[in-house]
Amino acid sequence: MNNEILIKNLRNVPDFPIPGIQFKDVTTLFKNPVCMQIMLDELYELYKDKGITKIVGIESRGFVLGAALAVRLNAGFIMCRKPGKLPAETIKQSYMKEYGKDTLEIHKDAINENDVVLIHDDLLATGGSMKAAYDLVQKFHPQKTYINFIIELTGEGLSGRTAFDQNTEITTLIRI
Ligand code: AMP
Repeated sequence: MNNEILIKNLRNVPDFPIPGIQFKDVTTLFKNPVCMQIMLDELYELYKDKGITKIVGIESRGFVLGAALAVRLNAGFIMCRKPGKLPAETIKQSYMKEYGKDTLEIHKDAINENDVVLIHDDLLATGGSMKAAYDLVQKFHPQKTYINFIIELTGEGLSGRTAFDQNTEITTLIRI
């Protein structure tokens, strides 16, 4: 039922940013207070007993719910950003995209070996960007790392989950 409400309120934008892409626009979920509560409640139930100490949000749509959930879980919030945006010393991870290379960064003092980390982003497609964020977080040697997306794309031969080891715990709120 909750899932139906989320799917009903999610906007699909055809041919954005390039022809052929069906862009899942989460801004229509973010602007709706009922959807925000549903998503936050579901995330809280999933992670309340996991001992999460840090939530890593991937720029920029991963910042919205990531930060809100951090408040609910009494965890810290860490920004995982595109190159050159973070002001202090960073640790980086580069990865291949369809056209060329991209990089993600986290502040060097953001995570420590005692942390239990949840990495959050809006959408899982090929899994490339989350895999880079996951590999980046592993460089800090946390106790454990969980992964969550609002949306998991399962059609058109996509299987983003296969980018990760089978033991990696991945949850998604909407599968389409
Ligand atoms: P990927 O690395 O292929 O899993 O792509 C996931 C990242 O690209 C996320 O940060 C998404 O915000 C964005 N993305 C990829 N495909 C879509 C799509 N169809 N609709 C909305 N966002 C997308």
